[in-house]
Amino acid sequence: MKKIKEIIIGTNNDGKYREIRALLPKKIKKYTPKKFKIAEPKENGKSFKENSFIKASYFSKKTKLVCLSDDSGLEIDTLKGAPGIYSARWGGKKKNFNVAINKIFKEMKKIKKKWKHKNKARFICCLTIFWPNGKSYSSIGIVKGKISDKKKGKKGFGYDPIFIPNGYKKTFGEMNLKLKMSIDHRYKAYLKIKNFFN
Ligand code: IMP
Repeated sequence: MKKIKEIIIGTNNDGKYREIRALLPKKIKKYTPKKFKIAEPKENGKSFKENSFIKASYFSKKTKLVCLSDDSGLEIDTLKGAPGIYSARWGGKKKNFNVAINKIFKEMKKIKKKWKHKNKARFICCLTIFWPNGKSYSSIGIVKGKISDKKKGKKGFGYDPIFIPNGYKKTFGEMNLKLKMSIDHRYKAYLKIKNFFN
């Protein structure tokens, strides 16, 4: 198998970009869509995998580079799996995560007034590699946990301040990034594709 030497990381989300960049080996040359001034494509897929594929093929075709893209989100059982593939959209046009988190609290309260620690949730990530010759490979990673009834911590991005992974007391927002990145959904998906790079 020919190892990948350079790659475009198919996301304009700074939090995701930072994590994926840190997971990839140092020696790989990494590009951002911002460098090519390419906006993200419309995500009209019905699953994390479909949306991840849409992004990877789009950025690869635009740049003729191998692309690694990420589609991810938070599923909450109390909300019947929402926000799921619409996780980014819950933040509105400006992708404001205070808005998205408040919406989660509001929806959770409608169903259960007090849900403290009694709920199941998971972050899911699908990573897709798309090669300019049309070949592709996708992998899924999942981290299970629960939703905190308060926003905690300022680290990370997105829903990190309200997600407590199983086996820990802190939210991802309170954990140092290195620890989060060694247990999260992105890392688990990456483990399944790391041989393409190393
Ligand atoms: P998309 O994959 O671009 O549709 O966006 C996924 C959204 O899911 C992000 O904008 C975040 O809101 C959320 N998300 C995905 N992974 C994480 C994570 O590791 N921490 C916090 N939020 C995340």
